[in-house]
Order: sequence, then structure tokens, then C-alpha cells
Amino acid sequence: MTTPPQNELFLINPCASYRLIDAIQNSFTGNPFPHALVTLAALTPVSYRVTFINKKIFWKKKDFSAGKLVAITCLTSAARHAYRLADRFRRAGSKVVLGGPHVSALPQEALQHADSVVIGEAESVWKDVLADFEAGRLKARYQGEPLEDFFSPVYDYYRRMEPAFLSRLGLHIDRGCKYRCDFCARISEWCRSIKMEQVLQLVERIKQAPRPFYLRKPFVVFRCDNIFSNPAYTKELFRKLAAFGVDWGANCSIDMCFDEEALRLAEESGCRVLLIGFETIHPHKYKKTSLRQVRSSEDYLTALGNLRRHRIGAVGSFIVGADEDGPADYLKLLWFLARARLWRSYLTLLTPFPGSRLFERLNAEGRIFSFNWTRYNFFNCVYKPKNMPVFSLYLWFYGVCLVSLLFSPQYITMYLVALFLYQLSYHFSYNFVSWLSR
Ligand code: SF4
Repeated sequence: MTTPPQNELFLINPCASYRLIDAIQNSFTGNPFPHALVTLAALTPVSYRVTFINKKIFWKKKDFSAGKLVAITCLTSAARHAYRLADRFRRAGSKVVLGGPHVSALPQEALQHADSVVIGEAESVWKDVLADFEAGRLKARYQGEPLEDFFSPVYDYYRRMEPAFLSRLGLHIDRGCKYRCDFCARISEWCRSIKMEQVLQLVERIKQAPRPFYLRKPFVVFRCDNIFSNPAYTKELFRKLAAFGVDWGANCSIDMCFDEEALRLAEESGCRVLLIGFETIHPHKYKKTSLRQVRSSEDYLTALGNLRRHRIGAVGSFIVGADEDGPADYLKLLWFLARARLWRSYLTLLTPFPGSRLFERLNAEGRIFSFNWTRYNFFNCVYKPKNMPVFSLYLWFYGVCLVSLLFSPQYITMYLVALFLYQLSYHFSYNFVSWLSR
């Protein structure tokens, strides 16, 4: 006979930034749940009833009750909302633990809204947090240490997941990144990958998920920061993946596009699309990115040509607002996008996230003028740019964003489909009204 759960644990992924924008984004991304919270659920004993709450937009008074343990993870843009939820749960009589990149960077700030904060990766301390909660003596801080084999303790939980849920969640096969970008606020810099056989077993599970009619094969999303962080491991994975008959997509750094063997193996294993962080079109000017082996935007075009030869689509992300860039550079960016033939491009404004070297530098120079974390969502300027007033930077940024849509086959297709549907509905409604008025 199984005993009923004694304790209740809420795992909350709060809305980031403006909630309406978040709701719109969610409708496009399928609202994936963060792996950090799934990992905590996996490490929680069965004596807890675990409830996942993912980007809930509207909260009612009765949602906040006493006696629970509430764990909230937060990115910087979600911090304000996370703090508000934490305050309300604490007022209702529950205990709140905050964690995530923003909390790890600013634990003192987070502690004003929580009973405890977890700094760094939580796996190594989660059992202590639960034991202390049960004993009624939660500590203010728990310092998580990165574990080399961070996935084995939770692997069984993932393996038992519904294939459809696992497919939506994607596979987070590594931690850390080999680069040290100035603007990146990662918790750990230590690169570690999960065991190959675990990845392959989970891919096998995802294959069992029902798939939409427009997909030829099961599609696996690798949600790691950079699938090419450990090239030897990645190539071995591609070799093994080739036998599985799946398509897949991932984030990767541009060095993979110059590695012929990696590209060939990626193509054979079913790689369909890679999201590449180009960051700037002037890699030689802006040295603090991951692009040391690339000298100019011409090298980017070569890299993209290599991808096309292997029938791999590319999505590119770029950052606007670096100190080194001015109006002429934004025009060059547009010219580059016109020639790059990317599926689509993501343009973001340079954002100094707490925990990044960029934040420390701009803060030390007294150039950050807004500490309203809700604005730290890649689309607001929160610091004084070097080469132009804030208003001009906004004009350039949104201007470049708008014009860049013209070079994206994905947006053009969406626009044409919308236009076609509009014409169709106009035609039918016109004929219908004419028929009625006969
Ligand atoms: S390559 Fe990406 S994940 Fe790695 S440090 Fe740079 S921004 Fe962060």
C-alpha cells in the first residue's frame, strides 16, 4: 500500500518580463518547462506532491496558501514577477526558495523576498533544502556545487516521462560552454556532457511521441547552450544518432561550420537547423565574444555556405548596441543579412545581465541607468551607449529589425500565407453578402 504524500512542493517558472509579450511568445515556442525545475522534481522524494506551474499569467487569491514549499527559478527579466509571487506565498504562510541565474548573481536582493536562496546549480544541495524544510530550519543560503555527472541521478525520471512531454521539453545534454562571452550570465563555466547512452535512450523515447502531420520524421530539440562545446563528444553523438532516423535542431557556435567532418556527420544524423550566435558582424572589433577564429563577416558567409552545402538551415542571432558599433555598422549588418540567406534572424539589444562581465564593467563605469529587471528582456536599452543617444539606438535597432524581416524566408512565407488567407476571407465574405442581398 502506498502512503499518501505528506508535503506539497510547488515548482514555479514565472512569466518573464511583460506578461502579455510572454503569453504571445509562449504560443510560438510551445512554452517549454525549464530543465532546472524538472531536475528538482526528479530529485524530490515521493513523500511530496509536486505541482509544476509554468508561466501562469493570472493568479487568484486562493492560489496562495500556507504550508507549502515553493521553489521559483528566475531569469533577470522574470525577477520582479518572481519576487511578487514569493512575497505573496510567504504572506500566506508558505516557505519560498529562489534560484536561477539572476538569484545566483544577486542573492542578497533575492533574500529580501525568500526564506532561502540557492546559488549555482541546485542538484548538490536540493536534498539538504528538503530536509531543512521538513525540520523547520531552512538556511538563508545554499551554495550549489556543479556535479560532473549531473544527469545520472535524474535519468530514470526522464526515461519514465511521457514521450510527448519529453519531446516538448527537449534534451539538455550538457552544461557549461567553452567560450566566455562578455555578455553571458551563465552559472557554470565547466563543460560537462551527459552519458551518450542516456541521450540515445531518450531520443528513442521521443521517437514514440505523436508527431504533427507536417513533420516527416520525429524531431528532437537539443536545448543545450552550444551543442559543439565538446567537439569529440558531439561527433560521436552524431555518428550514433544517424541510425535513429530522426531530424534535429540545436544551438551551436560558428566554429562547427568550419569543421567539415562535424558538418558531414551532422547532416547524416538528421540535423535540419542550427541557431548560431553571430553576435556582431565585426568579430575583429568586438573581441569579447566567442568568435575568435572568425576575422570578418565574409567568414560568416563562408560558414553559412558550408551549412547550405550540407543542407542544414541556419537561424542567426545578432546583438545591436555594442560600444564598437555605429550607424554605418548597422547598415553593414543589413547588407550582411541581405546576403546571408538565413531562415530567419533574431536581433536583440545588448543587455548587461547581472552576473555577466558586461554588467560589472558598465556598472563600474556608471552607465547603467535602469535597474528595473522587467526591462532586461533584450528589447530595451538600459545603459548609456557610447556612440549615440539612447533614442537613436532604439531607432536603429527597431529599424534594422523591421528591414531584416524582408530577408527572412520564414517571415515572408508567413506574410504571404496571411495575405492569402485575408484575400480568401475577403472573397468569400464579399460573395456571401452579395448572395444575401440578391
Ligand atoms: S557561446 Fe553562447 S553560451 Fe557560450 S559563453 Fe558565449 S553566449 Fe554564453
